[in-house]
Amino acid sequence: MKWRVPFLDLSAQNEDVAHGIVCDIQKLQKRLTFIQDEEVAFFEREFAEFCGVAHCVGVGSGTDAIELTLRACGVDVHDEVILPANTFVATAAAVVRAGAQPILVDCDDDHLLIDVSAVTSSITERTSAVIPVHLYGQMVPSCNLLMMSERGLLVIEDAAQAHGASYEGISPGSLTTAAATSFYPSKNLGGYGDGGAVLTNSEVLTERVRKLGNHGALVKYEHDIVGFTSRLDSLQAVVLRHQLRRLSERTTQRRNAAERYNNLLKGAEGVRTPIVYHGGQSAWHLYVVRVKNRQLVRSRLSDVGIETMIHYPRPIHLTPAFTHLGYRRGDFPVAERAAAEVLSLPMFPGITVEQQEYVVDHLLRIIGSI
Ligand SMILES: *Cc1c(COP(=O)(O)O)cnc(C)c1O
Repeated sequence: MKWRVPFLDLSAQNEDVAHGIVCDIQKLQKRLTFIQDEEVAFFEREFAEFCGVAHCVGVGSGTDAIELTLRACGVDVHDEVILPANTFVATAAAVVRAGAQPILVDCDDDHLLIDVSAVTSSITERTSAVIPVHLYGQMVPSCNLLMMSERGLLVIEDAAQAHGASYEGISPGSLTTAAATSFYPSKNLGGYGDGGAVLTNSEVLTERVRKLGNHGALVKYEHDIVGFTSRLDSLQAVVLRHQLRRLSERTTQRRNAAERYNNLLKGAEGVRTPIVYHGGQSAWHLYVVRVKNRQLVRSRLSDVGIETMIHYPRPIHLTPAFTHLGYRRGDFPVAERAAAEVLSLPMFPGITVEQQEYVVDHLLRIIGSI
């Protein structure tokens, strides 16, 4: 199907960088260092600088970034790790893969971010870490991150949707144990395949993550521990360096698009628009509204060529892979209601005024008619 307004159109932003990337890939083809090329180190340094943190370690994916950080911090089968029920499955999967016990908490109804008071009341003597998720591009406020560290928890931010986000000028990874991020192609900073990174101010953690992702060795054939194969490959680093140079400009385009949606939807009945914390600068990975009769609204939008998505149709505790955790429907009412109502509207750098007006015009018409 040819959409009048696709959910995500990466063609314009790909054209921007395509030529430069091809030239740098040709240079890489001459060097033949497809793993651990200098481009990886350059990207790590540039991205750390962009985020205002001391270190960045490239890994194989965003999920790996979370898992390796947990392992590098010594989290294991004896530990409980708190995370929100309203997130992508990868956050919970990383905890299970690290061998720890995921403890879910609800989100707050305004921002759909982790409920900090629920974190506090879920802490037991086994709790070692918490994973706040900067969902949809909005950072969990710094004061909340600090409150969690002050409770003695390792704080590992899931920043897979938050490249370019900040709160009072502070980016993910600056105040906490670490931030884990993903370079999956549809993220705000995306590669030509899978990739991820850990951002941290800790040199010790940096070395441990790097070792874990590189067969347990920092120096070739000096394997101190059993590790994994989880590195950011040279090809992705080439692509990401070009994408990173345009990230600020693209984030501004997303912010302008979000503001335009906010204005077009102002005062509209039957649509809840996203709320950003005072002091927060969302990266607007997604523009998520809430509506009743979501399925019907979505299919009517689809009939007029507007593609939408749902992030996410099920909270973690109602996802088959996590039923073993023993939670039930009703345990996290805010997350459950959100899962039934959220609707992600088309959002990407370069979305036009006409496209956004077309989306809002039809959305309001559909909601008014049902
Ligand atoms: C994309 C995403 C991940 C996982 O990243 P991968 O690179 O696909 O492993 C984790 N958490 C959130 C919130 C995400 O959006």
